Amino acid sequence: EAVITFDHVVKEYRRRGGGGQEHGTTRAVDDVSLDINAGDIYGIIGYSGAGKSTLVRMINALERPTSGSVTVLGTRVDQLSESKLRPIRQKIGMIFQQFNLFSTKTVAQNIAYPLQLDHWRKDYQDKRVDELLDFVGLRAHKDKYPSQLSGGQKQRVGIARALATNPKILLADEATSALDPETTAEVLALLKRVNEQLGVTIVLITHQMNVVQQIANKVAVMSAGKIVERGDVYDVFAAP
Ligand code: ADP
Ligand code: ADP
Repeated sequence: EAVITFDHVVKEYRRRGGGGQEHGTTRAVDDVSLDINAGDIYGIIGYSGAGKSTLVRMINALERPTSGSVTVLGTRVDQLSESKLRPIRQKIGMIFQQFNLFSTKTVAQNIAYPLQLDHWRKDYQDKRVDELLDFVGLRAHKDKYPSQLSGGQKQRVGIARALATNPKILLADEATSALDPETTAEVLALLKRVNEQLGVTIVLITHQMNVVQQIANKVAVMSAGKIVERGDVYDVFAAP
């Protein structure tokens, strides 16, 4: 059962020269059709500039396609107004390479932020934050600020915040690229638990093949805006 469907999706950006005049367009995503099924950990791999971020940012309509359609959890999102996107965006969490935490908020306040936006009652917020802190193993760090945490701990806060409103989908954009190999393995193990225990479908952008091999079941290889290879991780990376 597909939870995300791209159908002939094209995304072009206007390209500008030094003087500000137009110099045509860049085709960041070039006729991509792709189904991502419930329960997948779907790796999107490729070099810098291949179009991975642009593709994934169309799932929560941070980018809109130039043509084609994007359907998420049964709703076409590509043309949807910002107000109608809100309930869908609540079902999609996102984590980033640089974590994107609020430096002036504590760990608990960072995790509570989406709940505040969603007008949860304060006592429900506190209960949910404690659950999430336990899930990511950061209860002892609840009142610390991001600057007092290691990179791996920061990403665990990012994951807890992304999960706060119980999303069905988690988008991870180079989520382990700023981490050393040991911390990367820890964060990947946590993402595996998010997938297996919480049933969250994960779309994972990376330029690191070993990351895909460690946790993904499916992989698409992007190059110059196109998917040039795709399938089960085992088949795509099988030894020749
Ligand atoms: P059509 O072009 O007839 O509208 P689709 O848009 O459904 O067909 O798909 C375009 C192509 O992409 C088809 O060949 C389809 O099999 C392929 N495709 C879509 N999603 C996947 C996937 N997850 N894995 C492999 N192939 C896929
Ligand atoms: P990746 O995530 O694989 O590194 P991106 O999706 O970031 O690739 O970029 C794909 C192409 O689109 C690149 O040529 C990039 O320069 C271009 N691009 C991305 N975002 C923008 C933007 N906001 N404006 C113009 N061009 C962009």
